[in-house]
Amino acid sequence: MTVFNLGSINADHFYRLPHLPAPGETLAAQDYAIGLGGKGANQSVALARAGAEVRHVGAIGEDGRWMADRMTAAGVDCRHVAELPGASGHAIIEVETSGENLIIVYPGANRAISPGQALFALNTARAGDWLVMQNETSAQVEAAQAARAAGMTVVYSAAPFDAGSVRAVIDHISLLIVNEIEAAQLCADFGVTLQELPVARLVVTLGARGATWYDLAAGTQVSAPAFHVTPVDTTGAGDTFAGYLVAGLAEGLPPAEAMRLASAAAALKVTRAGTADAIPARAEVEAFLK
Ligand code: ATP
Repeated sequence: MTVFNLGSINADHFYRLPHLPAPGETLAAQDYAIGLGGKGANQSVALARAGAEVRHVGAIGEDGRWMADRMTAAGVDCRHVAELPGASGHAIIEVETSGENLIIVYPGANRAISPGQALFALNTARAGDWLVMQNETSAQVEAAQAARAAGMTVVYSAAPFDAGSVRAVIDHISLLIVNEIEAAQLCADFGVTLQELPVARLVVTLGARGATWYDLAAGTQVSAPAFHVTPVDTTGAGDTFAGYLVAGLAEGLPPAEAMRLASAAAALKVTRAGTADAIPARAEVEAFLK
């Protein structure tokens, strides 16, 4: 079973500042670091660390080769990551001493993925394979349609939330993953309750309160409480959860077990600073669960 992930790849530039700059102010940063980020790259790394065979479908700019190399080193198949003219997707993350931050995201190459590129990659998929997507790339509708027609299971993380993007793909989605804020936005947009959303299966993550799996078609639900840990950095918890959940489901675990695995992986991530590099390996998650 192969998991195709049509997802963003971003360079995260972190600047530590004494305070956030006011308009017109020039400010020297006290520290700088660069890391691999983007919801897509994070989820691919989580899938690979969980043990799934994952092929990333995406794009980097001329400055982004190091990101594909880092994903490859984590076990992600990057043969369908295109190198396009122009800049890679990137985020400028300014963090002041209090922890307050200011973030600018430039989608760059992530929004230049053509439907043709996505369809070319999905041509190699077989019935029973999985397609994972988030809302940080182009070509989602075409990819979801083609995947569904090919008998793949389509999973969508509706983040960052945008009602129009969800509406455009929801008919092709088998499993929708949202946090509780996105769930509320979705219900408000559709004018329905959670149980009435037009999707077969739904996972709502609730931060330190865990996550709930809803089989809306069957009318059942399964709760996965969060593991009690001391949080250090919750960035990427949702992506770690999504990657591990899909990896578990793709290897045939029942939803309750896949949710428990995902909760444990996300809890471990929360105890570590960083995003992609801080996602735990399967062996660490299994050891944590013992
Ligand atoms: P992010 O955008 O920060 O990646 P998110 O909003 O998409 O996160 P959350 O609901 O915050 O997603 O977290 C996803 C999962 O991670 C939760 O369902 C839970 O299992 C785990 N998790 C998050 N925060 C904590 C915490 N403080 N302690 C233990 N587990 C946590």
